[in-house]
Parts: sequence; C-alpha cells; structure tokens
Amino acid sequence: MKPISLNACNPGPMTGRGNRTWLITGRVPTLIDAGVGDPRHLDALDAALDGVRLANVIVTHGHSDHASGAAAIAGRAPGAQFFKMPWPERDGRWGVPWTMLADGDSIAVGDTTVAVVYTPGHAPDHLCLWHASTRTLFGGDLAIKATTVYVPPAPHGDLVAYLASLERVRAMDPARILPAHGRVIDDPHKLLNHYLAHRRDRENQIVEAIRGGDTQPDAIVARVYADLKVELQSRARETVVAHLQKLEGEGRAIQRNGHWWVVAN
Ligand SMILES: [Zn+2]
Repeated sequence: MKPISLNACNPGPMTGRGNRTWLITGRVPTLIDAGVGDPRHLDALDAALDGVRLANVIVTHGHSDHASGAAAIAGRAPGAQFFKMPWPERDGRWGVPWTMLADGDSIAVGDTTVAVVYTPGHAPDHLCLWHASTRTLFGGDLAIKATTVYVPPAPHGDLVAYLASLERVRAMDPARILPAHGRVIDDPHKLLNHYLAHRRDRENQIVEAIRGGDTQPDAIVARVYADLKVELQSRARETVVAHLQKLEGEGRAIQRNGHWWVVAN
C-alpha cells in the first residue's frame, strides 16, 4: 500500500499548509477525506487516478475541511460511494448520500483492506483507518506533528473521549500515522505519550488556577496561557471549558453561577 498525499489547497491558520487527502490506488481506488472542492485538488486527483474511476471516498469526520468537497468530487467521479461515521446533525450538509460506517468495519481500499477505528473527541464522528499488516493508521485529526489537536467543549467535542481515543490508538502500536494535517508521524508512540502528558499538565494547571482564586474561564485562561495571541484566545477558552467539563463529569469540579470550584478529595 503506497498512499498518495494530495493537498486540498486550503491553507490557513487552522489547516496549516492545507489538508492532506490520501489516495490509495489499485482495485478499489479510494480517497481518504474529501477536502473542500478546490479545482486544483480535483485536478490533482484526476491526474493521480490517470483515467481510472474513483470508487470510494472515506471521510474521517464531518468538519468542513474534510467533508465539504464531497459534492465536488461526486461531480467529477460519478458512481463514487461516500463513507463516514454518523453525525446526524451535520451529515445532510455535504450534498452526497453517505454509507454509514461503524467501529470495527473492514473496508476495501486499493488492493487491500483497512479497519474502521472509532476515535471520537475532536469530533463526535471521528474515525481512523487501520492497515494492520503495515501498522499504518490514517489518523484524520487525531494527531498533528509539532502541535496539539483542538478539542472543543461539548456538544461538538469531548475531551474524555479524545483521551480514550489516544490511549486506544497508542495500544494498537502504530508504526506510522498518516495525518490530515502536517507531516507524516513516524514516531506515534512518542507523540501520543506527549499528548497525554500535555493534557494532564494542562488539567493540573487549571485545577491550580481555580485553587488560586481564578474561578471563571476567562481568568483561568489568563493564568494558564501566558502571552496568548488575540486570535487564539477563543480556542484557549474553549479548551479550558472542555477541561472543566471533564473535571465536572469526573465529580472533581462543580460550577455555580459561572464560577468553578474544585472538589476536595
Ligand atoms: Zn477536524
């Protein structure tokens, strides 16, 4: 299996140099993630297919940089089937009929098969695809080299689920992760350990901020994130809220009138 990386041509602050989509050629030509429908992406896809019809598109999750190109691809590749895991509130947005996947499904790609690994947290429908014989994981937005992954608060994100997804993938011991953003991750164990440690550290900082008297999210952000750029403030606040929701769910913090308190244990 030699996946071909095709840039979706949507560079920006949240996508880096643009999303990577992965084409697997062979008996069942399959594209992993749909991009945004940029004509340069579609042209590169056509060129890589070299006259062969695209059979399947598997979308890792329903964020627009991964899913919104589906209709444009359907226009160029009649007969292609589109697959994802369900996100009922959003799945009607993208203008294609979806075949719904479930955790553990096996699906033909190229000349081989991959297994669906449900990895919620960053989004409620997030999946990875596992190619067992090469220990390769198509990671979507689970992990991005040299940075951390944004996990929004509920209902769109779930930090508890994200941490469980990281642990699940770490236990699979992938040799490499082919991500939707950034460089190929050839040291997954190290990055996943770093992610888990980073979230633990962040949580401890938030608990300490509350204990130190910063009991509202904005005050916690100011305490925990020094020298934060203005454009990152809302994401930092959402990250703090996601952590507070986790602590609340675990019975370790409570909210009253917009203030948060740590439960002594
Ligand atoms: Zn995403």
